[in-house]
Amino acid sequence: MDNRQRDFQLEGIILDRIPYKESSFILKVLTPRKGVISIIAQGARKENSKLQGVLDLMNLCNFDLYRSGELFNVRGAELLKSYHLTCSWEQTILLHAGAELYLKLAMGEQESEATFHILKKYSEYVSGVSKNGIAVFWRLLYRTLLNEGGAFNLQTCVVCGCAKEFVACYPRKHGLICGLCAKRSEKELLIPISREMGNLFRLLPTIGNVLEEITISMEARKRITEIFFLQIEEHSGRKIILKSLSQLDDSDSLNEVP
Ligand SMILES: [Zn+2]
Repeated sequence: MDNRQRDFQLEGIILDRIPYKESSFILKVLTPRKGVISIIAQGARKENSKLQGVLDLMNLCNFDLYRSGELFNVRGAELLKSYHLTCSWEQTILLHAGAELYLKLAMGEQESEATFHILKKYSEYVSGVSKNGIAVFWRLLYRTLLNEGGAFNLQTCVVCGCAKEFVACYPRKHGLICGLCAKRSEKELLIPISREMGNLFRLLPTIGNVLEEITISMEARKRITEIFFLQIEEHSGRKIILKSLSQLDDSDSLNEVP
């Protein structure tokens, strides 16, 4: 292998950044071609480094890389987009939650192209909304689930197919169920949901159109997130707990426009 083959450029979103040795970072980067890769950025923490401000969490960069052995090293990096720049406190947490989620799921090369675009779109969208960003995060969870081959029916009862009001989530059947079917099903397999939650689930695919108009209760915020995590766990076998999101739980200033 000559030097030219070992040098290449790669676009990617920084999911994690860990200080390494005296002045370097190890980055975990989601790329459209190779999935999540680890990259060493030598000297990036030095004060005079050209990479200062470029390698922040959830930044979209074009990396100039070279390979030595099994390791990817940064020769240079161009900042394409810093989603943080325009972010409020809540938006920043939601951006970080996206990064944490995709690190946890550790998706391989196969789905990486679609995965990369889902996270990129999410970052663009969530950093631009002033209200109810959590619903944009649910849509990320929903799209991620579908992209991984999981199903989650948000429109009709998963038992009878009717479009009546939902009263519970039925994780084993990958969706929501109506009152009549709930009465006939084993209670311990169901997670009861409120009318508000049922409506939010149904709205989710087009929720971007009504983000400014709706109000989401604290109970719905917590429980819809839990139900999506449970659904991802049911599908992938991976338990999802995101530290970043717990910061949102006890706040009462969530729906204020910054
Ligand atoms: Zn039904």
